[in-house]
Amino acid sequence: MPHIQQLPPHVADLIAAGEVVERPASVVKELVENALDAHSSAVVVELRRGGMGLIRVTDNGCGIAPGELPTAFLRHATSKLRSPGDLGRIGTLGFRGEALAAISAVSRVEIRTRRQGDGAGASLALEGGVPGPVEETGAPEGTTILVRDLFYNTPARLKFMKKDSAETAAVAGLMQHLALSRPDVSFRFLKDGTEALHTPGDGRLDSAVYAALGRDFARSLLPVKGGGDGVQAAGFVTRPLQGRGSRAMQAFFVNGRFIKSQLLTAALEEGYRNQIMKGRFPGCVLAVSLPADQVDVNVHPAKTQVKFAREQAVFQAVYHTVLDALAAEGGPVPAAPAPAAALGKTAEPPGGFFRSMDAKTYREQGAPGAARPPAKPLPSWDTERPGPRLSDSAPPLRGEAPARPALGRGTPFPPLRGDAPPSVLGREGAAPGARPALPVEEHPPVPAIPRRSPELPGQEPVEPEREAPWRIAGEVLRTYIVCESGTGEVWLIDKHAAHERVNFDRMKAALEPPMRQALLTPAAVELGKEDGALLLENLPLLEDSGFACEDFGGGTVLVREVPADLDPEDVAATLEEIAGKLREGRSPAERREGLLHTMACKAAIKGGWKSGPEELRVLVDKVQSGEVRYCPHGRPVAVKITRYELEKLFKRA
Ligand code: ADP
Ligand code: MG
Repeated sequence: MPHIQQLPPHVADLIAAGEVVERPASVVKELVENALDAHSSAVVVELRRGGMGLIRVTDNGCGIAPGELPTAFLRHATSKLRSPGDLGRIGTLGFRGEALAAISAVSRVEIRTRRQGDGAGASLALEGGVPGPVEETGAPEGTTILVRDLFYNTPARLKFMKKDSAETAAVAGLMQHLALSRPDVSFRFLKDGTEALHTPGDGRLDSAVYAALGRDFARSLLPVKGGGDGVQAAGFVTRPLQGRGSRAMQAFFVNGRFIKSQLLTAALEEGYRNQIMKGRFPGCVLAVSLPADQVDVNVHPAKTQVKFAREQAVFQAVYHTVLDALAAEGGPVPAAPAPAAALGKTAEPPGGFFRSMDAKTYREQGAPGAARPPAKPLPSWDTERPGPRLSDSAPPLRGEAPARPALGRGTPFPPLRGDAPPSVLGREGAAPGARPALPVEEHPPVPAIPRRSPELPGQEPVEPEREAPWRIAGEVLRTYIVCESGTGEVWLIDKHAAHERVNFDRMKAALEPPMRQALLTPAAVELGKEDGALLLENLPLLEDSGFACEDFGGGTVLVREVPADLDPEDVAATLEEIAGKLREGRSPAERREGLLHTMACKAAIKGGWKSGPEELRVLVDKVQSGEVRYCPHGRPVAVKITRYELEKLFKRA
């Protein structure tokens, strides 16, 4: 073995740099975070060749004193921390004092800066971390950092770089997150001279969402705001029917920092339980705020993960905020304790659910969501590459070209083209925040139809039927109820799906044992050894649901009583399906939920069956009142056609 010796500083720096600077996106992240920590109100990021050619970040923040310029590039040099105690309440994005040292160790850097109020600015160039002299120079207030030839001196890392387009995409995704994290700051992103993002910085999250994620996604959103117990959650979530094919559109921010968190994902998705289709995921832009001493951001060098001191308080705040917003939208309010609701706002979650909420526990304990697919790792721009961009997974809803809002002229960003010298932001004229707000189209959520809206003209409120602000026009294909609402819309209602939901809510809320019917001759249902044993293990659950079963030996179950609303002919099929649900259920709550799904479905009127007018009336009432909107699998129960849409079909409009 060779002798042991301490590495020279520049080698140690290169090793440390590897952790912080993994790819161009990590450089951009660190530089923009520095700009934000410097209280900038506008930040411009320019990229050439995916950042391998050039990265330039320009801000209008506080600037750096000329005398401190070389210090800023030393390892563990920071203005943001002084004592160990400060680590417990970090209020800035940076705090490790590593970024500038790491970036300059693996590239060629030029910095130009002027402090607010200083007569002149200063510049400094570094190559592989070795600084040249500090020079006095003219410069607008703020800071510009130019990074060239990234990884020129670390060939091993250079080899791992993807195509420029992949690196550009990663930076674009990052810029979306940064822009969403700070709606009060105007972000501009130029890739190879083309503007790819520009947010107004007017302090409105909806403006930032619109500019960063496009109109179609913005349209699918509902505002949410709530919290408690010291934790606030605010932002937007997708409507249940606008579920996405992946979790790529879930963006969480904690105290202004974009982070990935299985806990927050679980809390969000729990809010959609039974309201979203299997295999679909809610999207969100959700900002969570809590006192700085309640969250530890010093978990990972890239600072994209956090630890919460009180995980349950965070979970409950997000879960209830989402649930309340969906309920206000008109979605079904869980009538009875749902798993998380069963916890109550203070009770302990089953199995210490949030205690050590990592991906593994989430998958294994998975109290939430009978229909929940296994948790996938959240997409990211800094680890898996190329990180999917938020907008990549947002297919246009109606073939509309994703429209970018037109921004007012007179922005504080002079266009930077060619190899023009680094351009910096001026503060002349109006502050960027003073620019007009984006022309965000208002898309108010479809209001829940009130139980009693004004009567249709000519209708006397005599009989109960007449009182209803809607009229059943008929039933088609023995499946869909056609109905005209008081507001002049045509509704098609899937009677089976609606009935299934009504049953599900009723069964879930049931406090009394269900009505039973005794079978004239007990039914012997052959289920096979495994399923038979599974059912027998869950006899109390079946008993609660109205079944009286016993072991008949050899995988056969003898059924003597069944729920009153179950067709005795369906007994075998129902029990088989229940066995399947019991097999899938990972917790008692999930197994119960699975069983209720089956029972609700089996007890529902079927498409193809003839239904009496009274049956249809009850269903329409539930749908029109907003009580029922999705079947327990998250499929819609009703489709609404407006007069305008009809007129368009007939070319009248
Ligand atoms: P950290 O952000 O963790 O403190 P960095 O290496 O990123 O460490 O930056 C070192 C210091 O340089 C910061 O603490 C800050 O004082 C200063 N600095 C870096 N970038 C800027 C900027 N854009 N504007 C003003 N000061 C900056
Ligand atoms: Mg920093």
